[in-house]
Parts: sequence; structure tokens; C-alpha cells
Amino acid sequence: MRVPASGRLKQLVRWIASSWSAASIGAIVAGVVEAATLRGSTAIAAVGFIVLAALPILFALSVSFRALWLGWRVDAIAEAAREEGGGMPSVAGWLVYFWLAAVALGAAVFASTHAIAATTSFRPLVVGYLQPVCSIAIALVLVGLSRPLARRIGDAARTLDRRWRAAGHSTLLTPARVAGALLVLTVAGIGVAWLIVRARIGHLALFGAVAPPIAALVTVILAHLYEARRARRWLGRACVPLALVVGGFAGHVAAARPTVTLAVWAEGTVSGFVIDRMFDLDSIRDDVSLDVFRPVATPGSPHPDLVLVTIDTVRVDRTPPYGGKADMPVLAGLAERGAVFEWAFAPSNVTRRSIPSMVTGLAPNRVRGRVRGWSLRLDPRHVLVAERLRAAGYETVGFMCCDNFWGPSAGTGWSRGLEHVEVEKNGHVLAKRAVDWLARREQTPAKERRPLFLWMHILEPHGWTGGSTELVAAPLRDQLYERTLAASDRILAQIVGAFSHRAPEAAPIMVVTADHGEALGDHGEPFHSTDLYNSQIRVPLVIAGPGVQQARIHETVSLTGLASTLVELAGYAPPETDGASIAPLALGTRPPDPDGGVAFAAMIQDRSNPGGRVAIVRGGWKLIVQEGRAELYNVHADPDERDDLAAREPAKVAELRALLDEKVHATRPVFAE
Ligand SMILES: [Zn+2]
Repeated sequence: MRVPASGRLKQLVRWIASSWSAASIGAIVAGVVEAATLRGSTAIAAVGFIVLAALPILFALSVSFRALWLGWRVDAIAEAAREEGGGMPSVAGWLVYFWLAAVALGAAVFASTHAIAATTSFRPLVVGYLQPVCSIAIALVLVGLSRPLARRIGDAARTLDRRWRAAGHSTLLTPARVAGALLVLTVAGIGVAWLIVRARIGHLALFGAVAPPIAALVTVILAHLYEARRARRWLGRACVPLALVVGGFAGHVAAARPTVTLAVWAEGTVSGFVIDRMFDLDSIRDDVSLDVFRPVATPGSPHPDLVLVTIDTVRVDRTPPYGGKADMPVLAGLAERGAVFEWAFAPSNVTRRSIPSMVTGLAPNRVRGRVRGWSLRLDPRHVLVAERLRAAGYETVGFMCCDNFWGPSAGTGWSRGLEHVEVEKNGHVLAKRAVDWLARREQTPAKERRPLFLWMHILEPHGWTGGSTELVAAPLRDQLYERTLAASDRILAQIVGAFSHRAPEAAPIMVVTADHGEALGDHGEPFHSTDLYNSQIRVPLVIAGPGVQQARIHETVSLTGLASTLVELAGYAPPETDGASIAPLALGTRPPDPDGGVAFAAMIQDRSNPGGRVAIVRGGWKLIVQEGRAELYNVHADPDERDDLAAREPAKVAELRALLDEKVHATRPVFAE
């Protein structure tokens, strides 16, 4: 029978309208799931941004699924597959086989990938070539088995159903029941697989990213089912204008309220991703004049050249200034003529949390941004120390490892304020490039040069295992690790050597430190990013150069104070940050207090860091709190943190806990404006 043209048009309009209303309700539900942890206008804007992105996608999916459903004539197939008594045992047999085959395929692909990876030392290309061969072979076996096995299962289902009907019931195998059973099996299967996988892979923050899309898809499917039953259509219809209103609100926010946009960007998992893709946040920031960050010069203070070398993953007790055995003559030499900070603590135990705190001067829990790869894309509202120094008139350059943190395509914002950046993985090559650059610069007469801020970050110790994730036992482990420290020292030698022709009073102030340590078996952990014991957060800090006193400083200091320290060493009033400047200690203008100084460190939960741990050090006392449980150590007497004194020193615990809570719940504004 032919439907008249006007009827077909009406059908098409109804089709589109119902797909659009299903998409609207799906998009709103996804937004609400996302915004559950947000508040106020940020929450509404987050819903709006998700609606903007999800509405067209869900609409396209709805239309495509409807088209596929019609194209495959699913109803007709189901009708044709009905057998005696109205049931569909053959179809059930095939579906059960497909389900089992999918589980078998998944398990076999996982097992083969793991086996290939383990026998090829995890070389990605070899795994990449062999894996498809294995997968295709497994799939072919499953295809070969399909017909006989599916028929057996179908026969068994038919026999069962016959007995059931013989007892006077109607068939068990109606299309709806078969589909329902398949759905229940699938959800249960995914749940069991997730439980098994989760225990093995450790922490992975997937929920925030996965929940909104799943909520959207389930809602869209339900909306279509209700539509087909002609029930609750008003709900979908009401969501159409609502989606337009919240989507419009997000558009308004993006155009007129950059602060709310940036807040959603920093805090919303999926909505932040949407903003990242749809809007250019850095262009908002590029409009801000450097004048805003210009520090105030301290009268009479010189503006020396500053060289900052951050070495990734340096465990303090392996380096010579702190009694370590590693072959590091250059660092030892700097320590002999400069200030050695005995108790310097990194703000966190992983690069993407430590470095941002060090360069912004914000406590690690107050840095905003979005995790990108292994790095963190910084909230453009943060001000970096290189920007402050550049605004002060310094020439700012960076020689950095590596691309994922400082490369132009990484988009992390970490090089903001650096006028010239070179990125290179190999620290020796990087140092050579820095030396060449400096040699060219030294040809300009000193009087015509601006003061210099040079920052180099090298990653050699981070790769001490040589890429293997197998645990190596001591003493080989220590040898491997200390070899990379020695290599770092040779890199440092090149940078120090580049200034050796200068008179001592014209030499740069050198600052050498690290973003975090390495466990190396301490407290049962092999690497870092896992706890806040000294092995992971106590780092070397050596400052040497004109005006810096030769001293060993026993006051506790935090690298969150690095930004204000650099600005003060440059001859400017330190900006007000969460970390105090330690320049007066280095320059000898303030005596150290061995029982004082505060360092706060935090693990921030994200893609690979379980978070939930915070620590505070004051003087020689260190408190670590994990999910309410406190550990107390006297680190001056017990630097390896073997003897937990929490039960014996309740007053000390209470005192440090109050200080810790202050840091955890700091309410001062994160942004300067
Ligand atoms: Zn690191």
C-alpha cells in the first residue's frame, strides 16, 4: 500500500520531532549528571555546555538508529523468526552464542595482548603488529564454531520451551523477553568484568567522564520506547524548550562571562572538555597586558641573572649534598659554596601537580586546570613566575623536557611567560642547545642585555628503569637510579660551565631542585605518585651565586614558595602567594628557625593519582593524613618515617591537624583579579 505524499511528509516530521525531543531529554539528563557536584551558575552553565554539544550528536544518533531499525526491518525479522507457540528459540540460540563469543573474544584478546607484551618487553610496535594477527585468528575460530553451537543452544531452548508450554504456560521466548534477558546479561557481564579489571589496574577516574554519555544514551533509548508506546510524550516535548534555554544560557556565558566559562572548564569533566573543543580560552588570556603582573622593584636591589634547573624525580638522600652516594660533583660544588636547604618539600608527588604549584605559588590543591595526557593544562587565570619576571624586564627562556609538558602542541600553558622555549627529550642535547644559545647571547655586551631568567627541566632520573615496569631489586635498582643522577649532574655541568668565563659577581644565581622524589622500595612503593613519605616529596634545594650565603639551612621550606623566591632574588618584592619566599634565608638577611617553617603537600585525585592524602611539615614534625587516619613522624630524628608517633603525641597531632585543615580548606581567592 502506498502512503500518500502528504502522509509521508507528516510521518517524517513526526519522526524528526520525536528524535529531537528524545535528544533534548537525553542531553539534559547528561548535563544534570555532570553538574551534580557543581553549584550555582557554574552548574547551570555546565548543563548548557553539555546540551550544546550533546543535542546534535544525540539527534543524529536517534535518527540513525531509527533508520537502521527500519532498514533492517527488525519487526519483520522478529515476526519471521517466530516458531511454534510464538517463541523464537533459534534467535535466542544465536544471540546467546554471540554473547558468549563476545566474552570469549574479549578475554582471548586481553590474554594474547598481555602475553605478547610480556614476551616482547612491551615494545608497542611489535605488540601492534602481532595483536591483529592473534585477534583475527581468534575471531575466525569463533566464526567456525558459531553455526553448530548456536544450533545446539537453540535446540536446547526449544526443548525447554516445549516443556514449559506443555505445562500450560505461554512461550518463554517472546522477542521482548529475549531482548530483556540479553540486556540483563550484558549489564551483569560488564559489571563483573569491571570488578575484575578495577582491582588490577588501580585507580582510574573514569566515572566522571563516562557517566554523562551513558546517562544520555539510556535516556534516549527509554524516550524512544515510551514514544513507541505513546506514553509520557509530554516529558520529551517539555524538554525541547528547556534544552534551548540552558543551551542559550551557555552561549551567553561563553560570550559575556569568561570567569564562569573558565570555572566550568576547570571543574566540569565533560562540559570542560566541550569548552576546550569549542572555544579558544588562551585568546582570552592573551589580551591581558603584562603590566598587570609587574612586580615592584626593591630599592637598591640588583637584578642578577637567574638559572633554575629542575630535575624530575630526584630522591634527596641519594644526592651528595644530603649524604647520598650518587656521582654528582657539580651539585656538590654548588652546595659547598651556596645555601643548602636541608628540609625542602615538593608540593606533591607527581610532575603535573608539583610544577604548577612551584611556578604559580599556589598550594597544590588550589591550582586549577584539566588533566591532559600525563600533564595538566593550567587554568589560564593563573599567573606564572616567568610572566612576573618577564613583566619585570627579564629575558625569559626555557630549555625543557618534554613535549607533553612544554611542547607547543601540548597546550598545557606551562611555558606562558617564556619568550623563547626549546623542547628536547635528551638532557645532554638540551643542555648543548642551551649552551649554544647562551654563547650567542653572551656576544651582546652585558650592558645591552636584559637580566636573564633561564629555566631548564630535565627528565633523566624519571627514566631510571629504562622503560621497564618490572621491579628491580636493590642493589641493581640503586645503581640504575644513581646512574641517572650522575647523568643529570653532567647536564648541570654544561649549564654551569656556560657561565664559567664570567667574574663571580656577574655569575647567575643558580637554583637546583626537583619536582618530587622516588620511592625505590620505600614503604613498599617502587616509583612515585603513590604516597607522601619523604622518599617521594623531600627534594634537594641548592641555591648558589652572588649574594647567596654559604650555609646549611635547617628550617622547613616548601617549593610552593619557589615563585616568590625567584621574584625576590631578582630584586623585586615577592608576590603574595601560598608559599613564603625563602630568598631572605638564602641571602642571609633572616636567620633560619630550625623548629619552624611550614610545608604543605597534597595528592590530587585524577586519572592515575588516587588522591585523598595530604601532609604538613612544621619544623621537624610531619603529619600525613589519609582518609581521616593520621600518621605523625619526627622527621629530623626519623627521616625514613619508620616510627609513627601519632598515638603517643596526641597534642602534636591536634596542633598539626588544625594547621593542615587550614591549608586543605583555604578560602582565599585562587585568582588575583
Ligand atoms: Zn616528575
